[in-house]
Amino acid sequence: MAKIGINIATGSLQQPEMIVGIDLGTTNSLVAIIHPETKMPIALKEFDGSSIVPSVVHFDAFGNVEVGAAAKPFLETDPANTIFSAKRLMGKSYKDIQTHQDFFAYKIIDDNNDSLVKVQVGDQFYSPIELSAHILTALKNRAEHILKTPVSKAVITVPAYFNDTQRQATRDAGKLAGLDVLRIINEPTAASLAYGLGLDPSEEKTIAVYDLGGGTFDISILKISGGVFEVLSTNGDTYLGGDDLDRAIIEYWMGLMKIDSLEDQKILKQQLRLAAEEAKITLSNAANFETNFAGETLTITKEIFESLITGIIDKTMGCCAKAMKDAGLKVADINTVLMVGGSTRVPLVKNTVSKYFNQAVNDTVNPDEVVALGAAVQADILAGNNQSMLLLDITPLSLGIETMGGLMDVLLPRNSKIPTQAGRQYTTQKDGQSGIQIAIYQGERDLVKDNRKLGEFTLSGIPSMPAGLPKVDVQFLINADGILQVRAKELRTGLTQSIEIKPQYGLTDQEVEQRLMDSITYAKEDIATRALVEAKTEAEQILSVTEKFMSKNMALLSKAELMQTAEAMQALQLAITMEDKNLIQGKTEALNELTRPFAERVMDQAISGALKGKGIMD
Ligand code: AMP
Repeated sequence: MAKIGINIATGSLQQPEMIVGIDLGTTNSLVAIIHPETKMPIALKEFDGSSIVPSVVHFDAFGNVEVGAAAKPFLETDPANTIFSAKRLMGKSYKDIQTHQDFFAYKIIDDNNDSLVKVQVGDQFYSPIELSAHILTALKNRAEHILKTPVSKAVITVPAYFNDTQRQATRDAGKLAGLDVLRIINEPTAASLAYGLGLDPSEEKTIAVYDLGGGTFDISILKISGGVFEVLSTNGDTYLGGDDLDRAIIEYWMGLMKIDSLEDQKILKQQLRLAAEEAKITLSNAANFETNFAGETLTITKEIFESLITGIIDKTMGCCAKAMKDAGLKVADINTVLMVGGSTRVPLVKNTVSKYFNQAVNDTVNPDEVVALGAAVQADILAGNNQSMLLLDITPLSLGIETMGGLMDVLLPRNSKIPTQAGRQYTTQKDGQSGIQIAIYQGERDLVKDNRKLGEFTLSGIPSMPAGLPKVDVQFLINADGILQVRAKELRTGLTQSIEIKPQYGLTDQEVEQRLMDSITYAKEDIATRALVEAKTEAEQILSVTEKFMSKNMALLSKAELMQTAEAMQALQLAITMEDKNLIQGKTEALNELTRPFAERVMDQAISGALKGKGIMD
């Protein structure tokens, strides 16, 4: 296995390239580096002095894309074409976000199934990965503009609770933006690194990281031991943050002005929102706030503001208590409390947290920048510049298996520390399928044909079941010597098969490097191909389900409905042949829309049938 910071991560040792640290946030994103002279982490600022890039992407009618501060005003003036909070959609299916759909002002496609969400802007469909890639590209451009050098390597942070799919989606977004993502690290871990915690291998500490941003709240309890960070527990509320504090002020003022609603007065509504945020920020350092709004003087005191937001802050403390309980810890076990996120500047927040943990909180590092700064510290460690850090063994290339349509499904991303283990469940595609082939590949490309095949085996003897019913658990285990064992087990029958492979065998460092370079060079094509294959696979599944459904329930449908469905199926089939991703997604959506009421009708029929049955029994 390779060593971080020598030949794999840095490329050439003579001319180490700058690795940037990126905080890809829900509301705001930032990019940071270690200053070459001072050796201190700094967030990169544009000439306007701001280090923050709002995580907002706007598409105009001519296909132009604007990101960040330039896109933000369109949130009010052109909401349907302005995407915010794309991070909330990363690695999510429509079912995951269904209950929060009102939150999003743009169109999220409802496929009514488990596939990943897409956003519709005009006649184009975007995945959250593509949207995040736009933000990452803006950060990369900012870094290149300021540093006057190409930037192609990054460490990106994610919430500690992000699952494998969400982490992989973040990696893919980086790749699409032309960035080699050396490591995905947890946001609370990054915050700790920015405070210099975890850099001394002899240090043992338990830390609470309280992160209250613009729209989300996270509490994480971490344990640092021997330079390794372990997440003991996380809790939070993905729809609670500074925006709620603003809303409390808005409601208070509307009450004073006896205004019920500003829904149909967009400009006034926006003005009031901005005034409320200004009030909140002012009250972090002053006792009163006063402003003019539509000819009236609006005021608020710190005391009133605090009384309005006590409930919101108490809610975050409830999450802290749950996280502590899950970690099995008492307040006295926490050695350090770190404050992260712009909203922790509110004095009542700091005081309440400090009271709960019974100690002064750490708030000396800028709470907006702390996560990006920590990512830069991690980047510096990976570059091999921080000699005091332990070098850990890692996997230099990603390892995964082939799935439908020749796609690479990564189980162990590159740069995973070893020994390590990862697993995922798969199923059969055809009714009565008795064997499932596991082909193992190594590499960063989206199609297995561009990666390196390490071996394959077949798990055979699966008893006859309908497609989708068998559950095959595939486990990848790498031991300390870098030997990979792949194990497949059908969970209903216990049927097991495995293989052992040495992934690094016969691969030189130059070849590893070449594979990494290729994955960046071809990222755009690769991701487009993956999106097309996924759209085709989904479309084919829907066609086959519809076909089965139609032949079974023909009697329930009118002649016109049968005709319409046949036409919609034909149109989708044609779109598949044309290999046009947007057209396929459009036609899939159309077929779904058309057939949804049929399924409901069959369900009603089945229920009334069941009720009748029950009546006879009685
Ligand atoms: P973040 O998502 O971490 O960038 O946090 C942004 C949130 O912090 C927004 O809701 C801001 O209004 C809020 N914020 C920024 N500065 C202050 C301040 N001085 N006092 C209170 N809230 C602030």
